[in-house]
Amino acid sequence: MQRFYEELSREIEVLKENSLFREHVIIESKATTPWIYVNNQKLLNLASNNYLGLADSKLLVERSIEMLKKYGASAASSRMVCGTLKLHVEVEKRLAEFQKKESAVLFNTGYCANLGVIQALVSRDDVIFSDKLNHASIIDGAILSRAALKRYRHCDMNHLEHLLKTTNTKGRKLIITDSVFSMDGDLAPLKDIVYLKYKYDAILMLDEAHAEGVFGESGRGLAEHFEVEEEVDIHLGTLGKAFGCFGAYVCGKRVLIDYLKNKCRSFIYTTALPPAVLGSISAALEIIRGEKGKSLRQSLHAKSNAVRKKLKEIGFDTLGSQSQIIPIVIPGNENVCEFSKKLLDSGVLAVAIRHPTVPKNTERVRISLMATHKDEDLEFVLRKMSTIGSHLKGEE
Ligand code: PMP
Repeated sequence: MQRFYEELSREIEVLKENSLFREHVIIESKATTPWIYVNNQKLLNLASNNYLGLADSKLLVERSIEMLKKYGASAASSRMVCGTLKLHVEVEKRLAEFQKKESAVLFNTGYCANLGVIQALVSRDDVIFSDKLNHASIIDGAILSRAALKRYRHCDMNHLEHLLKTTNTKGRKLIITDSVFSMDGDLAPLKDIVYLKYKYDAILMLDEAHAEGVFGESGRGLAEHFEVEEEVDIHLGTLGKAFGCFGAYVCGKRVLIDYLKNKCRSFIYTTALPPAVLGSISAALEIIRGEKGKSLRQSLHAKSNAVRKKLKEIGFDTLGSQSQIIPIVIPGNENVCEFSKKLLDSGVLAVAIRHPTVPKNTERVRISLMATHKDEDLEFVLRKMSTIGSHLKGEE
């Protein structure tokens, strides 16, 4: 046993030597508001996925409490056994209506949804075509499925076409992409992907985690924005980001959802979502579908565009960001950690993303904006970034 623990210690040392050891930021206040408290220090929160600010909205909290009181703290069983409340079925029905799809199924997290859906839909004789910057849960689902995994260069349609053209399979071809990319904040070229899907007779799965609630006139995501909703076979949305709740769902044709409910291991072998979470999801849906949702979306986009423009004027590289997620490239693991630490010291929480999570020399501080950030909050952070950026470049 001694050797086992020594080996772990050695691996931790290597992580520390390479500035890759991760420690949690422990938040003493709500985690989802524009200003939070860490170590008694007030910090501007630029790291949350609570894009529309719904997580601490009165309606979500009240509806959670109402369902908690009515149905108790837990479903205490898997969906297949005795964990399916009428509430699960109602929320699934409303999610399907929202997305204009025939049917929907809830998952406990987006991670579980990607893992389970990919594993259920493809296997050894099939081929997955996946953008190189897709989320880790897609990669893990692909590995678990045992299908061949072909990764195309980020948003490179020539490369995707080359891979589709040169792949000889009698099995299924499944193209999977994030719609808004979680580390770069850029947008998948969905119209071109749809063109290739038809040309090469492939199935299209879209992970709308960072677009759901944010993009599209009605907040249905990037497929709505690009008017290709009907061409998406498998729509995956997460509920812990713009929805401000927890969980995820997949929607599409009824036959697809019936199949997933019967075959998806990460859906079948786990305890069902608890009543309080279902209450908050139904409340978030009402807001996102209504006028309030529309104005929150507009406000978020206006803030994101203004911040991105200012960051570029200061001289930062924001890669291809076109969304509320904005990377600020600071090459080198040590440099990016120093930048993030200096921001923290001056009252801003913005997390450093290091290699190997992102490619070498594109290490970055990743910020994500919320509709609830005030203009003066954003002016504050831009001032800090400008000063710290000049110091790092030695401009003083
Ligand atoms: N897909 C994408 C694109 C994500 O960014 C994430 C989480 N950041 C997930 C899936 C996983 O979602 P969840 O946090 O609900 O597990």
